[in-house]
Amino acid sequence: MNRYLILFFLLLNSWMTVDSAHAQTKTGKPNFIVIFTDDQGYGDLGCYGHPTIRTPNLDRMAAEGQRWTNFYVAANVCTPSRAALLTGRLPVRTGMCSDTRRVLFPDSDGGLPQSENTIARILKKQGYRTAAIGKWHLGHLPAYLPTSHGFDSYYGIPYSNDMDRVNSVEAREALMNPKVEYFQVPLMRDTSVIERPADQTTIVKRYTQEALEFIARNKQKSGATQPFFLYLAHSLPHVPLFASSKFKGTSERGLYGDVIEEIDWSTGQILDALRKTGLDKNTYVIFTSDNGPWVIFDENGGSAGPLFGSKGTSYEGGVRVPAIIWGPGRVKPAVISEMGSTLDLLPTISALAGATLPTDRVYDGYSLIPVLDGTSKSPRNEMLYYHGTRLFAARKGAFKCYFYRNNPQGYPEKMEKLDTYTLFNLQHDPSERFDIAAKYPEKIREIDEMVRQHRASLVVAPSNLEKRIVSQKK
Ligand code: MG
Repeated sequence: MNRYLILFFLLLNSWMTVDSAHAQTKTGKPNFIVIFTDDQGYGDLGCYGHPTIRTPNLDRMAAEGQRWTNFYVAANVCTPSRAALLTGRLPVRTGMCSDTRRVLFPDSDGGLPQSENTIARILKKQGYRTAAIGKWHLGHLPAYLPTSHGFDSYYGIPYSNDMDRVNSVEAREALMNPKVEYFQVPLMRDTSVIERPADQTTIVKRYTQEALEFIARNKQKSGATQPFFLYLAHSLPHVPLFASSKFKGTSERGLYGDVIEEIDWSTGQILDALRKTGLDKNTYVIFTSDNGPWVIFDENGGSAGPLFGSKGTSYEGGVRVPAIIWGPGRVKPAVISEMGSTLDLLPTISALAGATLPTDRVYDGYSLIPVLDGTSKSPRNEMLYYHGTRLFAARKGAFKCYFYRNNPQGYPEKMEKLDTYTLFNLQHDPSERFDIAAKYPEKIREIDEMVRQHRASLVVAPSNLEKRIVSQKK
């Protein structure tokens, strides 16, 4: 009798193991939410040291997750930076940069090519539901919109919030003292314009509502979850600034602070929704910015904190951004001073979702999984700082070598090639105040060699940012 009982329990046990393995494959893929702000500086969050902007939700997210202090975007302006995040490739490889038209405009006749693979496309093949909410800026014509690049749905503005400006108001006045009607930017759902001009005073609130509805739709009543990827690219705090009535005039930092605090509220809403539904145990949330602050707009622009430079430059302040990675039980809480990049998100997310990267192209990122789970150091030890198609600077370890210089405010855009390279130790001197080129010639040689190797295999794609719609050509 005992023998039969043992056999019964053995069979029951093996059946339960199979069943739980099955349940794991059915529901075990993690969800991903990337929250990407526009022109937010390194120093514009409480947890990155801002003295007056209050960001309790992002501060808590940072305390529960990882706050990265050497995290980079691949370009210092919107379009190429976004292309790099979604494709995991340097914009020179995808044709998503230019030395004459640095971003896409409403008269642009191009965008992210169909031949490029996005995070959304990779995840769709793994059974994910995908949504893009917010600013796109990778082409506003149908072939280039999110729904043509692996996203099931799209809700947002197709390019920057300062575009389609009316001619009746002088540019700087319109940007510094904005009204909704000054910017005839369309709000789109999938491929249709649903509002024009987009009411930017309520846009953060509406993006948030859309995000919450998307999360709720994928959390099924049975408790099983359809795995999802949400790309929430806020169109603010890019100038012109707008805040909803609940936030306007409430921050100690003026209108810019109101905007950041509204984005903090929005992030809190999303994290709370994950916590309440138990999705927090199976969701990675990444919060970062597309480039540094637009300081030519005085108080309406943000702050790079201790970093030198701003949007439109490849000094640290233009490309080093706040980056918080959160996933309770999956991401080991820490402050990470090793290097990471938005280029690394595609390989990291793909690996976490169980996808193998196609081998038909070069990717410029690394999987950051060993850092997220606290088992090893970051595999990234170098950064290439492109400005359009030109390599402005390169970093290896702590040392960053400059080949060009430009105005640290980013505008006017003139660049000058350096006869003598400059060198900075970024871990000792994050504000890049002390040129140590004369003291460390071997570091310059090492960086030169790294650049030589990179260039030897680089195929530069023709730019997709320079073609204009013929009828709008001036
Ligand atoms: Mg930007």
